[in-house]
Amino acid sequence: MKCSACGGTLNIGVSTMVFEGDNSPDTPTIAFQLLPMICSNPECSMYGGHDLSNPTKVVQTLRQKMN
Ligand SMILES: [Zn+2]
Repeated sequence: MKCSACGGTLNIGVSTMVFEGDNSPDTPTIAFQLLPMICSNPECSMYGGHDLSNPTKVVQTLRQKMN
């Protein structure tokens, strides 16, 4: 995936898990993984900083269904 601002390759930061549907017994619990996409180009307006685990800006967050 490319950065929308500079066209450089995005890095994946620290992923987190979220769950949906687990507050009702009638709906199946669905797990999603959230993947923050971070630009590592210091010249870019969307540059996320040097620490991928604690970015100052996230270009886009991908949401992947886990089950
Ligand atoms: Zn960029």
